[in-house]
Order: sequence, then C-alpha cells, then structure tokens
Amino acid sequence: MDLLSELGNILPQDRIVSEGEDFDRHGGGVFTYHAPIPPDAVVYPQSRDEVVEVVRFANERRVPIVPFGEGSSLEAHTLPVNGGISLDLGRMNRILEVRPDDFIVRVEPGVTHGGLNAALAEHGLLFPVDPGWDASLGGMTGTNASGTNAVRYGAMRDQVLGLEVVLGDGTVMTTGGLSMKSSAGYNLTGLFVGSEGTLGVFTEIILRLYPIPEKVLAGRAVFPAGIEAAGRAAVAVIRSGMQIGRVELVDARTIEAVNAYKQTDYTVAPTLFLEFAGSEASVERDVAVARSIAETEGCETFEFEADEAAREKLWEARHDAALAIRELYPGRGMMGTDVCVPISDLPGALRHARETIESHGLEGVILGHVGDGNYHAVFPVDMEDTADQARAEEVNEEIVDYALARGGTCTGEHGVGLGKVGHLEKEHGDSLAFMRGIKKLADPSGIMNPGKIFAGEAAPTGGV
Ligand SMILES: Cc1cc2nc3c(=O)[nH]c(=O)nc-3n(C[C@H](O)[C@H](O)[C@H](O)COP(=O)(O)OP(=O)(O)OC[C@H]3O[C@@H](n4cnc5c(N)ncnc54)[C@H](O)[C@@H]3O)c2cc1C
Repeated sequence: MDLLSELGNILPQDRIVSEGEDFDRHGGGVFTYHAPIPPDAVVYPQSRDEVVEVVRFANERRVPIVPFGEGSSLEAHTLPVNGGISLDLGRMNRILEVRPDDFIVRVEPGVTHGGLNAALAEHGLLFPVDPGWDASLGGMTGTNASGTNAVRYGAMRDQVLGLEVVLGDGTVMTTGGLSMKSSAGYNLTGLFVGSEGTLGVFTEIILRLYPIPEKVLAGRAVFPAGIEAAGRAAVAVIRSGMQIGRVELVDARTIEAVNAYKQTDYTVAPTLFLEFAGSEASVERDVAVARSIAETEGCETFEFEADEAAREKLWEARHDAALAIRELYPGRGMMGTDVCVPISDLPGALRHARETIESHGLEGVILGHVGDGNYHAVFPVDMEDTADQARAEEVNEEIVDYALARGGTCTGEHGVGLGKVGHLEKEHGDSLAFMRGIKKLADPSGIMNPGKIFAGEAAPTGGV
C-alpha cells in the first residue's frame, strides 16, 4: 500500500508530511530517554470529520494511529513503535465557546493550557492544570495531567466534564455534558481521561473553569536541615486544613540547576515553593500558620512575593526546573520516576529516594508536587552506557516498589506510555484483563497507539 498517496485521497497534500523538522518531532518527544522511531506519515486534520475519515481508513487498512498534541509526554507516549500515522491535533486549536456564567469552556484538543488562560483572562477566569510545558488540552486529557495547582484544584480528571471521541473504528461518541455533575450511567468521561490515545481521539473537550482568586502570595521556604524536613513541613501545611494554592518541593541540586538556568540566586538547599490564594484575610492567616510550621522544621528563610511579576518569575523558575536539570547534564537522557504516596508517607519516601540514589552511586535530583504526595526522582542517564542505564532502572524500580508497598501508585501524573508498562503490571495486574477488554471494545482492530499501557499488545497486521 502507498500510504501517502492513499492519505492524499482524504487530506490535501500540504497536510501530509513524511520528512523535515516537524516530521522528526513526531518520532520522539521533547524530553525523553527513549530512542526515536519515525512514523510513516504525519497528518494534520482540521476538523472532527477529517479525523473520522483518517481513523476509518486506518481501521480498514490496519494502520496504527498515534494521536499527537505537543509531544511533551514523558514516557514515550507518542512514539510510533509500530510505525503508521502520527495524527497531529495541533491545528484543531479553536476555543469553541466560553460560558463565563457557567464556569465552562468547550475547546478543540489542540488548544494549549497557556493559550486557554490567555483567552480567559478577560473573563476573570482561570483553567488551573499547568504542566511545566505548554501542553495541549488533548494531550493533557490523554495523560490525566496535573501540575503545581493540583493540590487545590485536582488533576485533569477533575476538570473534564465531557468529551467528543472518535473511537478506533471511526464511530463518534460523546460523554458527559455541560452540567457540573451527573449520575447518568457509567463515568465514561473519567475512563477516557488518561487513556493515552489507546481508546480513541478526542475532538472536543468540555472543561471546568474557576474565578481568579482575589489575593495571591507566593514564596519560598528554605530547609537547610534536609529534604525530609521540607517534606514534613509540606505534610503539616496540608494537615493544618488551610486551602493552600501550591506546595512544591525542589532539592538542593535542582536549586543549583535553576540558578544556573534562570540566573536566579536562590539559597542552595531543599526548598518549598508555596502559594497562598484566597481573600486578603484568609491569605494573611494561612501565611502565619505556614511560617510557624516551617520554623518548627528548621526553616531559615521564608520569603514572599506579592507583586505579580515577581510571582511569575518564581513560578517560571519552578516550571522550568526540568529543563534546567537537562541543561545541567548535557547529552544525557532524562529518566524520571513519578510515584505518588499517601501524604503521611511522603517524608519517609523522600528520604528513601535520596538514600537509594546515593547507595547506587547515581546522579539524581528530587522534586515534586509534594502537596499531593507526588514527587519525581530524575536520573540523567548516559545513553551510551548500558551499566548506567541498568543502575538507573534499578533505582527507579526500588522507588516504585517503595510507593506500591504503601498503597501508592507508580505514576501520579505522567501516565504509563511505554516506560511504565512493567510498573502498571505490578500495580494493577488484577485489573489489566478488564482494561484490555475495554480497549478491545473501543478499538477492535488495535490500531490506536499500540504498545502503550499494556505489554505485548499485538501490532496491527496490515498497513505499511
Ligand atoms: C518540561 C516538562 C515539564 C512537565 N511537567 C509536567 C507536570 O508538571 N505535570 C504533568 O502532568 N505533566 C508534565 N509534563 C508532561 C507533559 O507535559 C504532559 O504529559 C502533557 O499532558 C502532555 O501533553 P501534550 O500535548 O504534549 O501531549 P502528547 O505528548 O502529544 O500526548 C500525550 C498522550 O495523549 C495522547 N493524545 C494526545 N492528543 C490526544 C487527543 N486529541 N485524543 C486522544 N489522545 C490524545 C497521545 O497519544 C499520548 O498518549 C511535563 C513535560 C515537560 C517536557
């Protein structure tokens, strides 16, 4: 089969690409330790009907399809392991309807969270989920993304009210709707959020919005006593019952990386980045409580930024931490854990991660959205050195085992992709058959992002 000429019967030639810089972007990821694999073609649909036509064609010819947003997912989610079509939704990027009085927006999947928030500002509204890359809402729905705001607002699954989905045979289905809650049948919206492109393609997403808080204060609390003390302080802040906006932890090495990358001069020690949001009075009270908690854990510096530009600079530094770490280790692949533990287990988990990294003689940094019990250990891996890779895998495994033994999860926000397939088996071996059954129902020919989430998924037989 000549895939390119057959696709030419569906889309104009200038929206079918098989070489060049943008094509290459679809064979890897912006931040990955997996070797690139090119697709056979990248296509850029501009409407739901075009997506339907491409999916129907791929289903008939058994050609794999990998939905693609911004390609920033971290576990090789968009790697076309069996070749086929990379379906780039970036040109379906219209904000279809803002309903300020209902706190709801309807978007196409290619809108990014940054783009959405820029458009919402005039309405005094906020969409809170904020991964450290300007990711697409389709991709964020695909991975059930979260970020620094999740401790207050929750992850994508808490924001998506409804979806329009093109299933693996080209059938169009809608889930949910415009109401804030519903008890109408199974929670299919929740099922599709986090499906990593394996069940279908989202062509429309209905999202919840929030008012921008009256008062916001952001600050840093520095803990020379160590990462565990910072972790204990984070847990105590959550336990105090205040409505904290953000609680982010970065270790000393990450601060070093951020200082070099962003030309900041933050004290090099484990640090909590905090944000308090609400009314004037509630913010004042919460800051006083947090300060006293931090001091109990040996915090030496507790500094605040009320000015919007200074606050943005602080959060930009936190958001760019992953890029700063990559810069610190040029040429290395970035392997990251993403475990999430019950919040009371967090201090112990941080200590265990630090000790495990050191006992294996590995380089590694620790940072995370600790208000949710979610943290990342990131290992810069020498991709030419199999012993280095094996050491990193071993540490990764030990950190995951520690979390699972406490009822936690192998992935709090990044998803399974290719990199955590084995971890998912450990965590949910007893429900994998059920998940596979759902996959078969939504995608009978197995063309949707094969090889992800499940081990040993049979590749589609026809195609290129
Ligand atoms: C520097 C950096 C910082 C990050 N920080 C965070 C963070 O704090 N929190 C966090 O959660 N993540 C974080 N990430 C990871 C990443 O941004 C998220 O996983 C994000 O959700 C991916 O969105 P994307 O648009 O890049 O999607 P892609 O990577 O393109 O796709 C992600 C998955 O969704 C599927 N998909 C994409 N579009 C659709 C669609 N329309 N329909 C169906 N399936 C679709 C894909 O097939 C794939 O499986 C970070 C990444 C980087 C590089």
